[in-house]
Amino acid sequence: MLTTTEPPPAAPITAAGSPGRAFDDYPVQALMSFTPRPPVVFTEGRGSWLQDSQGRRYLDLVQGWAVNTLGHAPEPVAQAIAAQAGRLLHVGPGLHNAPAIELAERLTALSGLGRCFLAGSGAEANEGAIKLARKFGRNKRGGAHEIITFRHAFHGRTLATMSASGKPGFDTLFAPQVPGFPKATLNDIESVTSLIGPGTVGVMLEPIQGEAGVIEAQPEFLRALRRVCSELGLLLIVDEVQTGIGRTGPLFAHQRAGIAPDVMTLGKGLGGGVPIAALLAREEVCCFEPGDQGGTYTGNPLVCAAALAVLDVVTAPGFLSAMTGRAAHFREGLDALALREGGPGCSGQGLLLALELPQPGRAQRVADALRERAGEGMLVNAVRPERLRLMPALNAGEADLSLALQWLDDTLRQVY
Ligand SMILES: *Cc1c(COP(=O)(O)O)cnc(C)c1O
Repeated sequence: MLTTTEPPPAAPITAAGSPGRAFDDYPVQALMSFTPRPPVVFTEGRGSWLQDSQGRRYLDLVQGWAVNTLGHAPEPVAQAIAAQAGRLLHVGPGLHNAPAIELAERLTALSGLGRCFLAGSGAEANEGAIKLARKFGRNKRGGAHEIITFRHAFHGRTLATMSASGKPGFDTLFAPQVPGFPKATLNDIESVTSLIGPGTVGVMLEPIQGEAGVIEAQPEFLRALRRVCSELGLLLIVDEVQTGIGRTGPLFAHQRAGIAPDVMTLGKGLGGGVPIAALLAREEVCCFEPGDQGGTYTGNPLVCAAALAVLDVVTAPGFLSAMTGRAAHFREGLDALALREGGPGCSGQGLLLALELPQPGRAQRVADALRERAGEGMLVNAVRPERLRLMPALNAGEADLSLALQWLDDTLRQVY
């Protein structure tokens, strides 16, 4: 177990061993196209650094969409995966395996939520949360099935989780939607209470809306939601797929508000780069019966071993407090840049941050310029036309974070 609070040194990436394959030599058209991607193929990574097929290096502040908690190719995770791969890869949902039991035990102890279902993606975990809430409503609340969700929320890309999401356009994209997700406005408790009726079983939200552009639910709002849900017997469901596992400072972002949810989902950072997600719920809410829930890969031992290795590092004494210190320093630099650029400062917590650039479309122009900068590139995410999102590895060192600030500063001075 890694007990040091210092990030591991960024070891040099090994030379590719070949002169490198050009982008045009890859048959990328074999992939279904669903999003524009830059004409680069990434082949290696280490810590905060990625390398493309032609040996060019990039400082990575996207980290696989806030997935790579410990950066690229982290030793503890690589070793855990190698050891587990040589022992047991898969037994299926009908048989127990040791890493799944151990992971469920760790996650329930860390969250205070009594039981855990392991899934393969954030959407699958959220889909499970929705099913659990509907079943709870049928059993305990006279068939209530509506879950109040929020405008601009993002909960995944299955039909039900797209319906739960409040991303503009999702309502008509694959119509008809799955019904039962009335939309409220974040940080407006009246907008929630006015939607509550006999059909309501719960409220579901992200403690920080990530895909919306890093928009925070205020702690007072989370506490008010907790009060309303407790008074009326509704389930408070927090989607911590992006905010969980230390990304915002505390292990779970809702802890900042001092509240306890009834149901929580995790994903992204849990596996540190491998596809694993979790649905956690209070004991009294867990009402699945045989046949209600499952999945071929639930509790797959390989991915559970990786998640255990991530948790070992993230929950080691001092890891998150050291990360929070580096994050605060990074944020000071970002806030200074944001003010200079005429924006309101940056939003977010810990290492889930966004910088507002008031000029429409500038965020994408800056992201493109950073990626294509002379020498080494840098990766950031233009989450909205006027917002850059930064999600460095939680163990990114001071040197890498300072370099990121310097390159961002230079690029903002050149790109409008
Ligand atoms: C990414 C994300 C999801 C979906 O997770 P997938 O693993 O892509 O299915 C759900 N909720 C939130 C808050 C997310 O950021």
